[in-house]
Amino acid sequence: DYDAVTRSITILGATGSIGASTLDLVRRNRDLWHVDTLTANCSAAELAKLAHEFDAKLAVVGDESCLSELRSALSGTDIETAGGAQALCEAASRPVDMTVAAIVGCAGLGPVMAAVERGGTIALANKEALVSAGEVLMSAVQRHGATLLPTDSEHNAIFQCLAGNDITEVSRITLTASGGPLRTWTPEQLKAATPAQAVAHPNWSMGAKISVDSATMMNKGLEFIEAHHLFPVGLDKLRIVVHPQSVIHSMVEYRDRSTLAQLGPSDMRVPIASCLAWPKRMDTPLEPLDLAAIGELTFRPTDEVRFPATRLAREAIQAGGAAPAILNAANEVAVAAFLDGQIGFMQITAMVEDTLSRYTAAVPVNLEDILAIDAEARTRANQILESTALV
Ligand code: NAD
Ligand code: MG
Repeated sequence: DYDAVTRSITILGATGSIGASTLDLVRRNRDLWHVDTLTANCSAAELAKLAHEFDAKLAVVGDESCLSELRSALSGTDIETAGGAQALCEAASRPVDMTVAAIVGCAGLGPVMAAVERGGTIALANKEALVSAGEVLMSAVQRHGATLLPTDSEHNAIFQCLAGNDITEVSRITLTASGGPLRTWTPEQLKAATPAQAVAHPNWSMGAKISVDSATMMNKGLEFIEAHHLFPVGLDKLRIVVHPQSVIHSMVEYRDRSTLAQLGPSDMRVPIASCLAWPKRMDTPLEPLDLAAIGELTFRPTDEVRFPATRLAREAIQAGGAAPAILNAANEVAVAAFLDGQIGFMQITAMVEDTLSRYTAAVPVNLEDILAIDAEARTRANQILESTALV
């Protein structure tokens, strides 16, 4: 079905969960893809192993202090190496057919922007980049004629449900949420939730940061903001519904009240495959969906008292300007502090709300503005962290 030529692919964040899922698909289709560049933050040995296996041209670590380890691990090969934040951006601007943006956090924004400025095709998993940079990133996509393929499962579902339809005919977009591992917990239990409990997601296997975001529902909050930028139907047409089985990945309703939904196994290889093969399709190693075995699909509203994150995200996107970047930065600091045992589970969203109420900034108009707001919001969140007692 494909052209005889193989396509080149760069994976930013190759050692993570999305990186591993992407490389699994590439590994099964070595005749279709050749790897140009693989990046990681610091896991040099792991990155070197992958670069070797996939015969990459370039391997880059974001943390420059890990470059010497990467160099020695790849000595004797013809794989080039580089290190540092600037090297990540340079790597992302190399011409390739497909860039998978799978760095976690706002750290991925610079490289995503570099890939956008090259006018490339980007499978975007890195939601924090879009949440922080919203308008700035989307206008760069327009200006440079880049193609953004949403990889986050909900947005990929919406993208698929919109295919062939006019977005002005959409009456509602519904993001489904699993509700996370703590969905049924009481407020008292939530206060005492440990990192191990928060990262134990029932349906999805993911990196630590997004797993905590799932537990607080901030993941859905970030996705709400992400959806607002990717599918500009207006905030009043965006909804969230809790759907614990994670079978329906999201839905689009049209003005005639016809609703299209995308269903699939809760495995990121499905949306990643949809991006890699787009606008065609490719095989994945997953079992077909067995709806009779699943039995029931259930839905309920979100509870913004126990899980205030979706309210904070909605308020941030309504406020606009710098607010989503501040929300994201504060959340990254708070999640790291929670994983580190410094704060309790309910203090994550409390810290985000506190940071948002204490720090406002002018509307960002370019990447430098976003990065400055991100840095300042982290400083403020860290100040709040220092004055926060573990409860
Ligand atoms: P992960 O923690 O498993 O992997 C993150 C990757 O980014 C690793 O390769 C790591 O080395 C790299 N990285 C981390 N910090 C970096 C830095 N400062 N500079 C450069 N590289 C850095 O995360 P993940 O679960 O694979 O998620 C990646 C992104 O995809 C996140 O934005 C997440 O929200 C999004 N996403 C993930 C899933 C999932 O199922 N895992 C689903 C939807 C969206
Ligand atoms: Mg998602």
